[in-house]
Amino acid sequence: SLPVAVEVPDADAMRALGERLAGVLRAGDLIIASGDLGAGKTTLTQGIGAGLGVVGPVISPTFVLSRVHPAQGDGPALVHVDAYRLGSFAELEDIDLEESLDTAVTLVEWGAGVAEGLAPGRLEIDIRRGIDPEDETRWVFLTPIGPRWSRTALAEAA
Ligand code: ADP
Ligand code: MG
Repeated sequence: SLPVAVEVPDADAMRALGERLAGVLRAGDLIIASGDLGAGKTTLTQGIGAGLGVVGPVISPTFVLSRVHPAQGDGPALVHVDAYRLGSFAELEDIDLEESLDTAVTLVEWGAGVAEGLAPGRLEIDIRRGIDPEDETRWVFLTPIGPRWSRTALAEAA
């Protein structure tokens, strides 16, 4: 379906977008984030973490592959995965996310082509930047797959 496109002028705005998106997330949700190195996937995830009220800083899980951030209240934890070094769904399964999937919001950076099998539905987030390296503007494309989010609900949240 047609993605919801959001223009994001700087890193603070990216975190703010993540915070707003957290409002339409609940336990069991899967987000697959794509975009080049430095696009802003981790920055967006920091905002989602803030919106979910997770404890502690959300930093890139590049070397640990996956990190669980429990929520301060009774909301869902954030499971933050970096699939950059993973070549297949089988390798992703090896890091044993199954238990957390139902009770957390799971966000997989570099998850396209790897993480789709983790849940029946998902929110695909693709972050793009323009050709001018001085321009901090990012475009964020939100594509809901499956019935979990309507395009309208996402557009309102964003
Ligand atoms: P990724 O996880 O996609 O590799 P990061 O979020 O780690 O990217 O890094 C994005 C970098 O770009 C950060 O240093 C951030 O401050 C900077 N930045 C500049 N403009 C933006 C923007 N509009 N959105 C997100 N990050 C931005
Ligand atoms: Mg990252």
